[in-house]
Amino acid sequence: MTQTIRNIASIIKATWMGKNDVAIIDSISIDSRSLQNDDNTLFFALSGPNHDGHSYIEELIDKGVKHFVVTHIPKSVEGRANFLLVENTLEALQKFASYYRSLFDFPIIGITGSNGKTIVKEWLNFLLSPDYNVIRSPKSYNSQVGVPLSILAINEKHNFGIFEAGISMMNEMEKLQKIIQPNIGILCNIGSAHDEGFPSVAEKIKEKLKLFTSVTVLILNKNKTILAFVNPKIKTFTWSSVDKTAAVFITTKKTDDLTELQVTYKEDTFPLTIPFQDQASIENAIHCMMVMLYLGYNSKVIQTRISQLYPVEMRLKVKNGSTNCTLIDDSYSSDFQSLKIALDFLENQKQHKKKTIILSDIFQSGLNNEELYSQVSQLIISNKINRVIGIGETISQYKNKFINCSTFKNVSEFTDAFDNLNFGNETILIKGARDFHFEKIVSLLEEKTHETVLEINLNAISHNYNFFKSKLAPNTKMMVMVKAFGYGNGGFEIAKLLEHHKVDYLGVAFADEGISLKTAGISVPIMVLNPETTSFSAIIQHHLEPEIYSIKGLKAFLKIAEQKKLKHFPIHIKIDTGMHRLGFEEGNIQELSQILKGNESVQVKSILSHMATSDDMKHDAFSKSQIALFDKLSSQLQKELNYNSIRHILNTSGITNYPEAQYDMVRLGIGLYGISNDSDEQKELETVGTLKSIISQIRTISAGESVGYGRRFIAERETKVATIPIGYADGIRRSWGQGVGYVVIENKQAKIIGSICMDMLMVDVTDIDCKEGNAVLIFGENPTVSFMAKQLNTIPYEILTSISQRVKRVFYRE
Ligand SMILES: *Cc1c(COP(=O)(O)O)cnc(C)c1O
Repeated sequence: MTQTIRNIASIIKATWMGKNDVAIIDSISIDSRSLQNDDNTLFFALSGPNHDGHSYIEELIDKGVKHFVVTHIPKSVEGRANFLLVENTLEALQKFASYYRSLFDFPIIGITGSNGKTIVKEWLNFLLSPDYNVIRSPKSYNSQVGVPLSILAINEKHNFGIFEAGISMMNEMEKLQKIIQPNIGILCNIGSAHDEGFPSVAEKIKEKLKLFTSVTVLILNKNKTILAFVNPKIKTFTWSSVDKTAAVFITTKKTDDLTELQVTYKEDTFPLTIPFQDQASIENAIHCMMVMLYLGYNSKVIQTRISQLYPVEMRLKVKNGSTNCTLIDDSYSSDFQSLKIALDFLENQKQHKKKTIILSDIFQSGLNNEELYSQVSQLIISNKINRVIGIGETISQYKNKFINCSTFKNVSEFTDAFDNLNFGNETILIKGARDFHFEKIVSLLEEKTHETVLEINLNAISHNYNFFKSKLAPNTKMMVMVKAFGYGNGGFEIAKLLEHHKVDYLGVAFADEGISLKTAGISVPIMVLNPETTSFSAIIQHHLEPEIYSIKGLKAFLKIAEQKKLKHFPIHIKIDTGMHRLGFEEGNIQELSQILKGNESVQVKSILSHMATSDDMKHDAFSKSQIALFDKLSSQLQKELNYNSIRHILNTSGITNYPEAQYDMVRLGIGLYGISNDSDEQKELETVGTLKSIISQIRTISAGESVGYGRRFIAERETKVATIPIGYADGIRRSWGQGVGYVVIENKQAKIIGSICMDMLMVDVTDIDCKEGNAVLIFGENPTVSFMAKQLNTIPYEILTSISQRVKRVFYRE
């Protein structure tokens, strides 16, 4: 894109407050953290419930950004940049995208529906790219913000567009229609997702159909309920497996691993093989085939290309690599837009100082190679990548455009050179087009462990964080407890994400936990709940902040603080208001104030207490008495000290049940990890951890035979038994065995039979169609950790924190 700022100002009807109105804009940004922001970037200061883009303007100006779309100009930056003043920055972004879209007149497909949008988009891109220069929305950028950003990535060389539109509420689609302005519409399966946002299913259908108000054709599964809402003036191109009046009639037959279709269109009937068996994939593939038919492809080409469809991996996965590397696995796509996103993601990870990218040839940028690899190189330099490894014939030719770059013609040349590349202590982004099979590189670099993994959904953590943040008064700070390895979910990665969300404080139980976070590069202040006297020096050295809970501890800390000549070192005073675990009691406050008053070496950064029954309204009176006592004692202490400290008492269930006691900060724990003991609130939270394994072996035993130690299961019928490589040493309680618990295989429950062993357990799969190597779900959406805890007569905290460290954690982002 190249647009003058003057032109943009007039398109978005902004009031101009700047100096240089002939400046050229070549990229748009809404993310202050992206290293790709530079002097030709126009930054839209969007504001949401938890973030306000306006608060980063000063920082961005310091980094060289010169142009901003804002609703107001913060005092501190007046006159320091070009400002385009508008009433609503999101609407301005959308208006600009809509104008930009209208500069191009090639075919654009708009896809909506509840399920399958991203897959249909990715597949169509694969199917059509031999013949077109396709631009498509990266990942699942389908929202009110994602769609305009996707559209603004179109360039002059593209000649086909595929964009998805996702909505969760009424009145959103009209805006997306104006931005995408599709000529070809695809309506995917309308399921029940996001129903909350719509008054009825009919309203939801009508809303989705608004994407298609000016298409030349709408492709959809022939369905009376939906067609009733389609404007009869819109030309449709329908398919069906039941209704012979559809334009395309399809019969289906499933075989071992594939699905065979017979497709009848006009006078012609031809077979089509889809390399999948599940209904969703079949429908998605049919939608793709419909587009090909509409575009006039012959059945031979359709057959060949559809038979090569592949599973779409939409996630960027973070994995542990060997030799202390961190891998970001994006090994299934390589296009310019998704490269930008992956580089932003890499920047947000920051596990290691050193950053490497392994990159394949890039396809369909629309640009010629000379331009393309210059731009890629610029992008890589602006993201401060230390080393580039290019794999592919084309990227090898442009090696000299990159700094510190080695290239290989293909993956096997790379593999041969692997030992000399000395990977270690670095974050490696692996990004390659599908044909390059970079999964081989990932498996070469990956830490080898067994098949059981705990998958952590980083999006869900962000969602839950924002959910609790939205319950707080605007000035209430947030401390998140990441003790016990982030409640078993992963310490560093979660801390890093929270830092990204600008959390105010982190809390850990012991000094060691805080030290490893600080050493790994976390800079958010960290409070240590239970510092031992012997760790005080280390605490000071690593800028951790101790919780002080006794006179003895205070004196010991002050002694070291004075020796080290510290000034105003932050400490936290814990008051016992009824939990009777740690803390100063009412009778200590006088002495405490005496010691602290006028002391220069430490500063009481915060005063806190902890509630014993915030989750149980049966003890409401007790909880209120704790809050009242906290109020009294903390006020007394502040008065004596003659300065204010941050006050905080609420944990997760406290946030839910005692919103009036937020004081200056809250301490979120279990809620972040997706668990609440309030059933309404539970519905609002997203599942963070999914524990998965695979089937190692399947056998069939006869009635009367037994399974496992002590022969505690005796088959009453011929029984198919599957063995799963996870046991009590991984943290699955033994009492979950012997018919109490289950795992989920192929969406069906398989009861655990016999005793759970140290490293394995056995399940009954007699009624489940499954094979060795199939995935097994231990917990996640079903069974939930809360359900498991209830059955086992414990609490979710214990289940989560018991998952042993030998279980590999894999972090991913949708
Ligand atoms: C663990 C802990 C929390 C968080 O509790 P949740 O119930 O997980 O929200 C808060 N404060 C203190 C002192 C804690 O030890």
